[in-house]
Amino acid sequence: MIAGCLALNASYEPLTMVPLRRALRLVIDGKAEIVEAEGDRPIRSERMAMPRPAVIRLTKFIHVPRRFRRQVTNIFLFARDHYQCQYCGRLSAELKPRESLTRDHVIPMSRGGLNEWTNVVTACSSCNTRKASRLPNEIGMHPIAEPAEPHFVHLSWAVRRLTPTQSRYIKVFYGEETLRRVKAMDALPAVV
Ligand SMILES: [Zn+2]
Repeated sequence: MIAGCLALNASYEPLTMVPLRRALRLVIDGKAEIVEAEGDRPIRSERMAMPRPAVIRLTKFIHVPRRFRRQVTNIFLFARDHYQCQYCGRLSAELKPRESLTRDHVIPMSRGGLNEWTNVVTACSSCNTRKASRLPNEIGMHPIAEPAEPHFVHLSWAVRRLTPTQSRYIKVFYGEETLRRVKAMDALPAVV
């Protein structure tokens, strides 16, 4: 069973996963073509039958704005940091009932820090409260891993599953290393 359909830009750059229904609509409307189909049984409607799309390609190139690619969201932030507080090292499963994972600005926004990937880390609510508006040096709290902007493809697939056919396209476009990292993220529990 396919969880979703991988949508490629006209350039074959993997863009995102779309629900099957949306993928079919794009194909029917002529906005996308089926690149790979999976499964034995075609999808039938009253008027037509078509193979079940696993990978589609948009017929027109769409420009994905840089700011969209860069947007920080907690879902992807926590996945990037492996659901681990970057200060005390506890995993989300190890937190106490009243604690939760939060977004911490390494250089606090009140001190001029920006809300961007290189300045945000996952922190448990206790560490975040303790650090408050201090700089790492002022309180001796340094993130376990240096925060970096994840590859766009990591963001898109951080919380989704890829089929082998779909994986091939990630590998072709981004290489084996990216695919391996995406799959490592796949194995994480979806706690957010
Ligand atoms: Zn913590």
